[in-house]
Amino acid sequence: MPSGKTHMAVEMALLPAIGAAYHLTLQPEPVELAVFVGGYLFSSLLLSPDLDLHKNAARRRWGPLGFIWAPYSRVFKHRGLSHSLVLGPLTRLLYLGIVLAGVLAGLSYLWGLTLPEEAVGLLENQRLLWVLGAGIYLPNMLHVLLDRIVSALRPRPRPRPRPSMGRAGARGR
Ligand SMILES: [Zn+2]
Repeated sequence: MPSGKTHMAVEMALLPAIGAAYHLTLQPEPVELAVFVGGYLFSSLLLSPDLDLHKNAARRRWGPLGFIWAPYSRVFKHRGLSHSLVLGPLTRLLYLGIVLAGVLAGLSYLWGLTLPEEAVGLLENQRLLWVLGAGIYLPNMLHVLLDRIVSALRPRPRPRPRPSMGRAGARGR
């Protein structure tokens, strides 16, 4: 399968073309383009489908917070649901959402901290949420497609001839 570096190279190489196509066809507001690119980079760097592996580049990029993905890599087997085109990103977003909700609940319980108003405003802006979702989904889909293409092109190992059976068969005929 392609390495983390290959995935990253492909996703980064395609970002300018994807961003330009988005800009030219849908003419987004600058903030929408920024949210799209931000979601794409976040997803590419930190939300890779390969978080289903115990050791992987995306988990390393989380630095000291990488441990939060340990349960995820235990629950999701490599290239299973985590690598589904539609459901894969959803499993990671839901997982991260649960972790964040737990942290926020802890912070608000201990110190009465709440989400800043800008964050609440973003969550209420449906259009921006769709743009963010598209930015997060695209690199995930590119990853899964590249995995599938490479698997399909890889030469299958030839079945080894079994010498004893071959001889017996020849004698019998
Ligand atoms: Zn993969």
